Amino acid sequence: MTSSPTLAVIGAGLAGAKAAEAAREAGFDGRIVLVGDEPGAPYERPPLSKAVLRGEKDPDTAHVHPVGFYAAHDIELINDHAEHLDLGVRRVELAGGAGIDFDTAVLATGAAPRRLPLPGADLDGVHYLRTIADAARLRDAIRGASRVAVIGGGWIGSEVAASARQMGARVVLVDPAPVPLQRVLGDRIGGVFRDLHAEHGVDLRLGVGVAQLRGTETVEAVVLADGRVEVADVVVVGVGVTPRTELAEAAGLRVDNGILADEHLETSVAGVYAAGDAANAWHPHYGRNLRVEHWANALNQGITAGRNAAGNRDIYARLPYFFSDQYDLGMEYVGYGDAGDHVTVRGDLATREFVAFWHRDGVVTAAMNVNTWDVVDDLRAIVAARAPTDPTRLADRDVPLGELR
Ligand code: FAD
Ligand code: NAP
Repeated sequence: MTSSPTLAVIGAGLAGAKAAEAAREAGFDGRIVLVGDEPGAPYERPPLSKAVLRGEKDPDTAHVHPVGFYAAHDIELINDHAEHLDLGVRRVELAGGAGIDFDTAVLATGAAPRRLPLPGADLDGVHYLRTIADAARLRDAIRGASRVAVIGGGWIGSEVAASARQMGARVVLVDPAPVPLQRVLGDRIGGVFRDLHAEHGVDLRLGVGVAQLRGTETVEAVVLADGRVEVADVVVVGVGVTPRTELAEAAGLRVDNGILADEHLETSVAGVYAAGDAANAWHPHYGRNLRVEHWANALNQGITAGRNAAGNRDIYARLPYFFSDQYDLGMEYVGYGDAGDHVTVRGDLATREFVAFWHRDGVVTAAMNVNTWDVVDDLRAIVAARAPTDPTRLADRDVPLGELR
């Protein structure tokens, strides 16, 4: 590295912002350029489907750092699109015409919502939710809606349905699976969320897909695959995301469901790191690559990538973790279960106060606490221990969680 190296961080979401911060904190004293193609300063997305969507919190509260942070830490924040990356000469070209020569780079380009490939999907009144601007448009639309149709019962769909009900809107939720969140939680725990939404007045259309959206200029109805017609003047599509890998791929980096990286988050080119939703990194605990689309992963991978770009050699081995809030249900999940793993519950599904364990061959792969607090450290330790566990002890509330670690 030269005496005054440059770090280019591409993508100014949570992962990018934390990478720039961590590099500076790790003692990197060269130039740090943080390039992001959204307006303004980096922000966190979780409030966009919750308090910010409902209008209870100002979008500014979602910023990763206070105003002035970047200047104070000598981080150049550039609002522009990185159009071309040349890893031979180590230079990134921006859409606005500028070019940045760099020594090390962090790619934190995130993910973009999958589009609904159906007739009528381009009608007015059809919304996706990823950015602050999306959240503002959707909030106004929900306020004026007669009925909101949510397509997709994943995390966006579940949280938006809850927020829209809390805002007083009539809501119908459509998903081809028999329960919301089936892929991550499986049928039994997904059933808790089905019942939660039903009790809060969401019309559930589960086990059925969408055939088309109907309307002239503005959407008027969602036509289901079985022919039923659901009237709606606002439609929210939450059918997953795809990692934004186009820049990395064109630059010749190895890409497969995300930018491939090793346990140091280093990509197939030395000195170039990947973090957050865009990264598909080797995970030492699971012995395979994982691409995780959650807040804590963006935060912590961003830190590791930034530190390593500054010259460290940290290994990223944190267990995946995420949280969700829907109505009066709060939950945390740690680990990486498979919806097909066995599920053991400690507590009561009916009152929605429980801990669920996913396990395979006697080993806990993931655990989730619902309306049960201060247990996540124990749950993380249980998953990390990979110790053989007796399901009857997992279920037994008289066995302290600390004894299962
Ligand atoms: P992103 O947040 O996608 O940021 C990447 C940035 O890079 C974007 O600004 C993008 O425009 C920019 N970019 C991409 N390509 C370029 C380029 N070529 N040039 C310049 N800039 C570029 N997770 C949880 O754990 N809990 C939650 O409750 C939760 N709620 C969520 C609610 C919503 C509405 C959404 C959308 C997500 C939520 N998530 C939640 C997921 C979490 O927000 C993401 O995992 C996280 O944002 C990923 O951060 P990131 O920095 O990797 O990517
Ligand atoms: P998601 O959680 O992957 O869920 C997508 C859902 O849409 C799945 O239930 C999927 O079913 C369903 N689906 C797919 N195609 C469909 C179709 N044609 N019609 C109807 N349903 C369809 O993705 P998301 O909810 O869109 O969320 C976007 C991103 O934001 C994700 O990365 C997510 O992790 C993140 N996010 C996280 C949180 C949180 O952690 N609390 C909150 C909000 C957003 P199948 O699974 O069967 O394909």
